Amino acid sequence: MNSIEKLTTGFKSFRDGDFEDRKTTYENLVDGGQNPKVALIACSDSRVDPATLLQTDPGDLFVVRNVANLVPPYEREGHYHGTSAALEYAVQHLEVEHLVILGHAYCGGIKSLFDKPTKGAEGNQFVPPWMSLVQSAYLRVEGTLPDSSDDVKARICEKSAVLVSLENLMTFPCIRQRVGAGQLRLHGWYVDIREGSLQVFDPVNQQFKAVD
Ligand SMILES: [Zn+2]
Repeated sequence: MNSIEKLTTGFKSFRDGDFEDRKTTYENLVDGGQNPKVALIACSDSRVDPATLLQTDPGDLFVVRNVANLVPPYEREGHYHGTSAALEYAVQHLEVEHLVILGHAYCGGIKSLFDKPTKGAEGNQFVPPWMSLVQSAYLRVEGTLPDSSDDVKARICEKSAVLVSLENLMTFPCIRQRVGAGQLRLHGWYVDIREGSLQVFDPVNQQFKAVD
């Protein structure tokens, strides 16, 4: 079975199994519309599928996936703000109660910051400018731990990047307003698929803490 046949076979298995079992759930989600309480920004990385990692049901999560699970700052100018459009829809229209940034270990996007790719080279047209969103996290770890290995620095940078995205979320007026009104809460999470661990950022102690 090739990789595409695996997908279509998977769909048939879903259709005849899970879909059949949850037919009422799907009907309700179509007739009543979706009403997720949580929007989540995850990485495009094939190993960190939120529905698998968090064992969610249909309708639970509104998900945005992009390279390195980044949130850009609010900008009125510009052209195609896919992540910002999804955030606006989640917050303004779905009125989600939680926004989660799901960072992860061994992120290729974060690793690219340490690989120092040649900007503008073919194949590196879009990733470097996108990853420059968390250049501050990269510079901070290079400044504080110059002698550590790139691996150690990348793990720290992955977590710092989650915090940068949390800060950027608050630059969106609709998000700032709803957080201020107590209608929306922001969460920074970090998953390690080698350890099988999930860490949650504690804003009081300014640290990530493992979930038991
Ligand atoms: Zn990633």
